Amino acid sequence: MTDRLLELGKNPTARRLVQSLGLPIPVPQALKRAQGPWVERPLDGQHVVVGATAQGPLTEVLAHGLARAGAGPLLVGGLVGASAFREAGEAHGRPPRNVDNGASESVKRIDAIVFDATGMTRVDDLGALYEMVHTWVTKLNRCGRAVVLGRPHRAQADVEAAATQRALEGFVRSLAKEIGRKGATAQLITVAEGAEDRLEGVLRFVLGPRSAFVSGQPIAVDATAAAPSTVPLTRVLEGKVALVTGAARGIGQATAALLAAEGAEVVCLDRPADDGPVSQVAREVGGRVLLCDVSDPNAPQTVAEGLTGGVDIVVHNAGVTRDKTIAKMDRERWDQALDINLKAVVAMTAALREGPLRDGGRIVCLSSVAGIAGNMGQTNYAASKAGVIGFVERLAPEVAGRGITVNAIAPGFIETRLTAAIPTMIREAGRRMSNLGQGGLPVDVGEAIAFLSSPGAYGVTGQVLRVCGGALIGA
Ligand code: NAD
Repeated sequence: MTDRLLELGKNPTARRLVQSLGLPIPVPQALKRAQGPWVERPLDGQHVVVGATAQGPLTEVLAHGLARAGAGPLLVGGLVGASAFREAGEAHGRPPRNVDNGASESVKRIDAIVFDATGMTRVDDLGALYEMVHTWVTKLNRCGRAVVLGRPHRAQADVEAAATQRALEGFVRSLAKEIGRKGATAQLITVAEGAEDRLEGVLRFVLGPRSAFVSGQPIAVDATAAAPSTVPLTRVLEGKVALVTGAARGIGQATAALLAAEGAEVVCLDRPADDGPVSQVAREVGGRVLLCDVSDPNAPQTVAEGLTGGVDIVVHNAGVTRDKTIAKMDRERWDQALDINLKAVVAMTAALREGPLRDGGRIVCLSSVAGIAGNMGQTNYAASKAGVIGFVERLAPEVAGRGITVNAIAPGFIETRLTAAIPTMIREAGRRMSNLGQGGLPVDVGEAIAFLSSPGAYGVTGQVLRVCGGALIGA
């Protein structure tokens, strides 16, 4: 089902015309998405304004991370003259420039704003964030990025520091709503003490085009999971085996293709009745087929036996909706949603953990914004998708010692057959009621799954990442 408003907006003349009519619905900005596999310099040639109240523990990793990704930093405030940026600039051919909030006219357009707020402990400190974003936001390009770096507020030494750090989340969520019309996004990354070196992989994702449909999200980086021995920047899944359930179509199909493009051997699982489409997907991605109904009591054994050679990445994507209000819902609908979306995830993971799942593995489970906010007619679905969140939160510390991470993705409105079946008016509301004013594509969810499956995401575990364009529900 094409989004006609989005298509119309791609034509500049039509876009101007529609906007001049003053319609209550702004024409959404077509999002810039990545083409092809991961590249060494995803931010090549981009102008990134970087600010901080003072140099701190993240300065070094920011300097090198940005330069390695190809970005040209423009330094503001406490980072002006930071030797780490000079050294990184020399090493990667990206010398920093100093710029002044007061003299921003010298710079025409920027691609991203990054502000290191980790040193903020007093409410008054937040003023520096205001000054920085107030100055630069008008120069932010379409589909630009704003990223604020903070500390986990619960780990702060006193109440004012906790309040100050928590304030960053409200700021970022609001900023994301303001800049979403331009297709731009804002995120908060909280970095726990001792996890500073884990920031780079996350930064590359949120600043780059692979996070196109992630808007207004807090992402926690910590040192829970054991670190991998190497973190490649390209062909990031070379030598890995990935299981994707529900791979015949939609999000699963997109994910299988993205994981394969990074070098993974993908095992494409779907129901026996979907042999045709799933075999086609497996052929396209050069992978294998595993036919199995995940809710079958023998499924955990079947899957473990199908992966005896070992598996590194498990994507629990197979899922169904069986919508009815609770009074009208028969027991079969309840059971189907719970069995496929949640019970199968728990049972299969247990079998894989004891068996073929290798150290350094990655588990990604599909939750949903409905699992966070609830939804009319979806008591079964929302219960199953909220259950997935509880599952990853509890499992993460249990497997961290083996270097395994486990996360959930909560998609919002994604253009698939699932959402094509929704009545027109509700579908239109689902698309527009978000910061970015449009539905996401299966590839947007796949990109987030590929990111969480990558070695560089070792600082992210036990989290729920929303890929929802900043859906107004479920915040
Ligand atoms: P889809 O219906 O297009 O694809 C789901 C796939 O899972 C299908 O190929 C189906 O055959 C397979 N599947 C279903 N039951 C199975 C079973 N018992 N055993 C094996 N395979 C089974 O759906 P999608 O939109 O791509 O959704 C994928 C996941 O993302 C689901 O878990 C869904 O709940 C979640 N999600 C989707 C959206 C959205 O907007 N599309 C939003 C939030 C969450």
